[in-house]
Amino acid sequence: MRVIRAEVLGMCFGVRDALRAIERVEEPEVVTIHGELVHNEVVLRQLDDRGFNSVDESNRNAVPQTSHVLITAHGVSDRERGRLEASGLKLIDTTCPLVRRAHAAALQLRDEGRHVIVVGKPSHVEVRGLVDDLPSYSIVERACDVESYPHDRLGIIAQTTSIDQTVDQIRAAIIAQNPNADIRFIDTVCLPTKDHQRSLERLIDEVDAIVVVGGRNSNNTRALAERARERGRPALHVQDESELDIDWFHPEWTVGLTAGTSTLDTTIDAVHNALTALAERLEPALQNAR
Ligand code: SF4
Repeated sequence: MRVIRAEVLGMCFGVRDALRAIERVEEPEVVTIHGELVHNEVVLRQLDDRGFNSVDESNRNAVPQTSHVLITAHGVSDRERGRLEASGLKLIDTTCPLVRRAHAAALQLRDEGRHVIVVGKPSHVEVRGLVDDLPSYSIVERACDVESYPHDRLGIIAQTTSIDQTVDQIRAAIIAQNPNADIRFIDTVCLPTKDHQRSLERLIDEVDAIVVVGGRNSNNTRALAERARERGRPALHVQDESELDIDWFHPEWTVGLTAGTSTLDTTIDAVHNALTALAERLEPALQNAR
């Protein structure tokens, strides 16, 4: 078995900046993280060990009891930011600039009087933040969910970690089902996500199977695995090296390695090393087969 690493993989600048900001926090016990800083269990455990408070992503309505609240890289709406500030909390804001750009696009489309269609997962925190300031919106995850909307003017944006091909399919379906509407599309899929996906497409051409490293709840990590399967490659999504199962691998395979934008370099290296060790263990089987 051979292992090839994607040219572009792992942590994006947005997550690195958020982690740097949180490293600078001197009193973790006075800070509540507003949801999951990143969708990466290894990082979340480290933050817990440092003494940070956190609230569940699905239950952010209560006012934190600490003096400070940390906004994650996924961002929040202006309405939510105002609610937290009005409660007297001091904000530590690690919103990624590319998420801010998606918010600006949504508000621009709103100000043009458009019904805003967000391509993304309805329950994802970034998407909830994007739509919270909009008077008129729909969230669409798949092309088959697209409708004929009762609005003359439509605007389309996407969750920053969406798959380009999915956005293109949904955009085409919106145009097809709303032939008389004035439609404006602003591409808000972030560049690091596009770079990861393009790198994966090249990798898929060279390999028999793909291992994707990243948090179970990480949207872009899951998207990488889904895309590999769409292109006919078996894909194994693991959070760390302990989840590699030797029975899943074939001795004659060339395996591609990629990782989501919230995966630590140390975790990727550990999985890479474990895959190399696994390849050595499978070598006798390959020799016998010859
Ligand atoms: S995935 Fe993109 S939008 Fe999200 S934190 Fe990274 S760079 Fe920012």
